[in-house]
Amino acid sequence: MRALPAIALAVCGLIASGCGGTAAGGAAAGQAAPATSVRQTPAQRVPPASEPLGAEPAATRPLEGKVVVIDPGHNGGNYRDPKAVNRKVNVLTQWKACDTTGTATNDGYSEAAFTWDVSKRLTKILKDRGATVKLTRKNNDGVGPCITERAAIGNKAKADAAISVHADGSAAGNHGFHVIMPKKIDGPVDKVVGASDRLGIAVRDAYKKGTGLAYSTYIGRKALDYRSDLGGLNLSTVPKIFIETGNMRNAGDAAKLKDPAFRQKIAVALANGLQHYLKA
Ligand SMILES: [Zn+2]
Repeated sequence: MRALPAIALAVCGLIASGCGGTAAGGAAAGQAAPATSVRQTPAQRVPPASEPLGAEPAATRPLEGKVVVIDPGHNGGNYRDPKAVNRKVNVLTQWKACDTTGTATNDGYSEAAFTWDVSKRLTKILKDRGATVKLTRKNNDGVGPCITERAAIGNKAKADAAISVHADGSAAGNHGFHVIMPKKIDGPVDKVVGASDRLGIAVRDAYKKGTGLAYSTYIGRKALDYRSDLGGLNLSTVPKIFIETGNMRNAGDAAKLKDPAFRQKIAVALANGLQHYLKA
């Protein structure tokens, strides 16, 4: 009997990534240790499965105090309300549609569903690392918000970094990913153009390393592109980038983007890029 916890711990050590949810093992270890927290009931000692154990060393929560806003591109219900989605909004350099439906793979996996899934995964990773995370939409069944509002959410949160997650719908022969950063437009975004550039390069590098996906074969230079026509960037007063994570119309990229295990890899890579920037 007494040997069991040690064996459990050894197994956890070997498969560390699979042991985040070992509430039972963690609680048992906590109870066996000398009581550092006086007069806690057992119920109080067991944290919710989604939360890390109480007294984590600071190093395991490197993003404590950082605010990240994640913008999952588009929304699953956008196609239902063309009037709302097509309404023109001012993005400083031009007037554009409030939002769009986004693209999809040839067999119908939508960009909106993809960005929502990746954003949820990314949220969990960043929260586990201590960050405060806000999303620009609550689910994948609604409409919008407009690109102006997506930028405003990051500004209002005073985000240390903001990222808009997308996948592209280019010609079938094109593949790879690219990061989009803001340009100076003689507007409020100008003061975060430099920081956004650093954020974009950090995410580009981490994404390449973590996913192995190629730099875009059709846009940008070494997967870096700069634009002044995107409301989500033009209206941002916090460091912000877009990432086009792959081309959903390319068979090779699409197969990866459809794979949940690969989407987890994407989320980890994005988290690593954000962390690299935020800790620099
Ligand atoms: Zn998109």
